[in-house]
Amino acid sequence: MKDFNFMFPFQVDFSFLTGLSSKAKSTKRCLSQMRGMFSSEEDYEKMLSIEDKVVYEFYELDAPDKEGDLAFGTSITYPGTVGNEYFMTKGHYHTILDTAEVYYCLSGEGYMLMENPEGVTCEKKLTKGNALYVPGRFAHRSVNTGKELFVTFFVFRADAGHDYKTIETKGFRKLILKNEGIPFITDNPKWREN
Ligand code: ZN
Repeated sequence: MKDFNFMFPFQVDFSFLTGLSSKAKSTKRCLSQMRGMFSSEEDYEKMLSIEDKVVYEFYELDAPDKEGDLAFGTSITYPGTVGNEYFMTKGHYHTILDTAEVYYCLSGEGYMLMENPEGVTCEKKLTKGNALYVPGRFAHRSVNTGKELFVTFFVFRADAGHDYKTIETKGFRKLILKNEGIPFITDNPKWREN
C-alpha cells in the first residue's frame, strides 16, 4: 500500500447563540489591545480607564495550514460602543491577498466592513441565517450594530495568513457609527493612503 500522509476527520461544536465551543478555547481581544483603532481616542482612554472590556473573541482551530486545507471557526463581537463607534474586530487583509472567505451569521446583527487596495469599499449587513462571500483582495472587519452578541462562522483557505498591520496603520476608509440609535456609514477622517 502506498504511504499517504493524511489527517483524521474531526468535529467541533459551536453554540448558535454564543458561538462558543465546549471543546476548543477562544482567543479574546480586549479594549487595551485595540489602541488607535477607534476614531475617538478620548472616549477610548476614558472607557479603558474604567474597565478593559472584551471587544471580541474568535477561534483558531488547529487545522494544518497547507494550501489544500481550510481554516474555520466562529467570531464573536460583543455589543457596545466606544463613544459613538460600535465594537468591532481589528479587521485584516489576507497575506495571500487573493484568497476569499465565507461568513455565516449564527446570531445577532452587524455589518461586515470591506475594502480592497484599489479603494473599493463595501458594507454588508448580516443577521441570523445570512451568508456572505468576501472575495479575495478585500480586507474585512466585523462590526456589532445590535444589542446582543454578533456571532459568525467563517471558513477560509488555511494558508491565507493574516495581515493586521495594514489596517492598524491606515485604518478602514469607512466607519460605522451609531447615530440616533441606528448605524450610520461615513468616511473615516483619519484614513490615510500610506
Ligand atoms: Zn479573513
